[in-house]
Amino acid sequence: MSFVKAGVIGHPIHHSKSPIIHNHWIAEHGLEGDYKAIDIAPENLKAGVDALIAEGYAGFNVTIPHKQEIFKLCAEVDETAKAIGAVNTVVIRDGKLFGTNTDAFGFIENVKREAFGVDFSHRPCVVLGAGGAARAIIHGLIEAGAQKIILTNRTIEKAQDVASLNNNIVEVAAWDKRSEILDGAGFLVNTTALGMTGKEPLTIDLSALPADATVSDIVYAPLTTELLAQARHGGRQIVTGIGMLLHQARPAFEKWFGVLPDVSAELEQKVLR
Ligand code: NAP
Repeated sequence: MSFVKAGVIGHPIHHSKSPIIHNHWIAEHGLEGDYKAIDIAPENLKAGVDALIAEGYAGFNVTIPHKQEIFKLCAEVDETAKAIGAVNTVVIRDGKLFGTNTDAFGFIENVKREAFGVDFSHRPCVVLGAGGAARAIIHGLIEAGAQKIILTNRTIEKAQDVASLNNNIVEVAAWDKRSEILDGAGFLVNTTALGMTGKEPLTIDLSALPADATVSDIVYAPLTTELLAQARHGGRQIVTGIGMLLHQARPAFEKWFGVLPDVSAELEQKVLR
């Protein structure tokens, strides 16, 4: 196999953990290749992507702010990316871009591996937040069998937009009802930026949430957020956010390098450092 070039495009991009993940797997599998963080400003997106095609890149990940704009440059976008409304992974073939999204896979795979007997389908799932990550997570939950999702967001219009795409399954609740809607839920996930180091705390009362519910947070700095600490204190299973980041990278790596890698404790420690 010849030298394979891949990377992640975004703006800014210096904070990205993706090079650590992919270069770890390149070394682990003894492959010839390299994965770089590539800063492309929004006004240079087409020229920046054309340069990657000219340089023979196998593909790239896409992060903020390009996840929607990249649609227009793709020759084809698969059903998953269309349903989520964002592309996070591109394969370059014969100079053309093929877009997909691996975030839903990453989220569900992580929860299934980390939590025992998690119940997505018999009881409602509650999703806090209606941003980009929430769209992928809701798609993943529906694919995993969720029958009812209660979605709440500070800006209710954004939650209503997401619900209108999945109108039989997603119900919208007001943000100030976020503690009450936990009554009878089987699964709760925080997809907002609240609770992250340097951001405001997430204020929520978990007393209505059943003791056998599973609670997940996609914020991973800190790894055990206040929400997860509170959930664990009540005896509930918890799932931290780092695994979503690691697992979403696996199918992308496979598309470019031809090997489906796995997530080791060593890799997790590297990324958290
Ligand atoms: P986004 O599209 O900007 O959405 C941000 C969400 O947070 C919105 O629902 C927003 O509500 C809410 N929010 C922000 N500040 C708030 C506040 N003060 N009060 C109430 N709600 C607030 O961002 P995203 O891409 O979905 O990412 C969200 C978080 O998930 C980030 O912390 C990101 O680092 C993390 N993330 C983790 C992974 C992973 O692999 N673990 C993957 C993706 C994202 P409004 O709509 O009202 O503004």
